[in-house]
Amino acid sequence: MDRDRTLRAQAARRERKARMAADDAAYEARAHAEDVATEEPEPRAPEIASTAGACTYCGEPATENDHLLPLPWTGKAARRSTKKVPACRECNGRLSDLFLPTVEERAAHLFQVLAEEHLDELGKPDWSPRELEALGDRLRQAVITRQADRTILRSRLAWLKLTALGRLP
Ligand SMILES: [Zn+2]
Repeated sequence: MDRDRTLRAQAARRERKARMAADDAAYEARAHAEDVATEEPEPRAPEIASTAGACTYCGEPATENDHLLPLPWTGKAARRSTKKVPACRECNGRLSDLFLPTVEERAAHLFQVLAEEHLDELGKPDWSPRELEALGDRLRQAVITRQADRTILRSRLAWLKLTALGRLP
C-alpha cells in the first residue's frame, strides 16, 4: 500500500516535472517570438559607402547623403525611407531644405547658383606656361592654385549640367 502510494507520488512528480519542462519550452518560444517582434529593425545598408564614389550632382568626392525630400516635408519618421543620393558637403549644404524632389532639378539649381556666384572667376583666362614662368615663386604658386580651383569649378559645373540634363546615371 505504502509502496503504491510512493509509486503514485513518484509518477505524479515526474508528470509535474514534464509539464513544467513543457511550460518552460513554451515560455522560451514565446519570449523568443516577442524578442524577434520587438527587435529594432536591422539598420539598412547605406545606399553608398559614404566616403566612396562621386557626388551625384557635381562629381567631387561624396562624403554624405543628400535626402531628396527635405526634413520639414518628410518628418523624422519617414526620414529613413526618403530616397537619398551620395553628395559632397557643399552640394548637400546648398540644397539644404529646398523642395526640389528630383536629382535633375537639384543639379540645375546648384549649377545656376554656382555659375552665378563664380561668374567673374569663370571669365578669367588661364595663364600660359610662359606667363607663369615670368612670375616670382610665391605669386606663381598662388596663380597655379587659383587656376586649379577654377579647373575644379569648371569640372563641377560640367558635371552639374550633365546631371541636370539627366545624362549621368
Ligand atoms: Zn557636389
